[in-house]
Amino acid sequence: MVQLSTLNKSRMYENVKTWNPFVGCRFNCVYCIPSFQRQAKRRRKWCELCYRYEPHFHPERLNRVPNAEVIFACAYGDIAHAKSEWVEQILDTIEQHEDKTFYIQTKDPRVFELYCFPPNVKLGITLETNLDEFDTPSRFRRYIEISDAPSPETRVVQSYLVDYVTIEPILDFSSEFAKLLKFMNPEFVYIGYDNHNCKLPEPPLKKTLELIEKLKKFTEVRLKTIRPAWWEVDDDGQC
Ligand code: SF4
Repeated sequence: MVQLSTLNKSRMYENVKTWNPFVGCRFNCVYCIPSFQRQAKRRRKWCELCYRYEPHFHPERLNRVPNAEVIFACAYGDIAHAKSEWVEQILDTIEQHEDKTFYIQTKDPRVFELYCFPPNVKLGITLETNLDEFDTPSRFRRYIEISDAPSPETRVVQSYLVDYVTIEPILDFSSEFAKLLKFMNPEFVYIGYDNHNCKLPEPPLKKTLELIEKLKKFTEVRLKTIRPAWWEVDDDGQC
């Protein structure tokens, strides 16, 4: 099995930028508050809706597409909460930048059925786990305590249009997870632990490393933060 010391973070953020003509979400993931929502709150001076993370449109950003090969579009939000006229304008803009690849990610893949996406878009879902309930030292025992998004199982069932999967922040999973991911046939998979000390129901590192090895047999694995689960680390911060 691969060791933690041999894993390097993917060079995935080279020549990658975000572009946020749409911002906001109502899925209320607990781990969003210290990450995306904290970033958005910094914009209070300029936009109250960004501060409140309410789904809204920034049409003035349509003509400010970043100069990068790969662009995470609408990274600060989930387009499942966007009005169709906003998404149509965003997709029209994307179509005009055929030299760039845009990643659009959701926790509700039903939204992908509603639009005709240009060929330079890769569609992704976040799938932190395949479980609805957890048996770890975390105070979170059920997925519905973590997010109001459609359940992980629902996302898998509706994932037939998906190009890639993001397993971040990874939560504990069953032995079926790798098989499910293989069934989804993603081009690539991002995988990583929570970066914000949310004390989520994380899997032990060994289990995650075994999953990574299984994934590598059928897809490209892009590593993010790979570390021991918070509950595997003692009070001194040592494993
Ligand atoms: S789905 Fe994404 S944007 Fe929405 S609350 Fe969860 S982490 Fe935040």
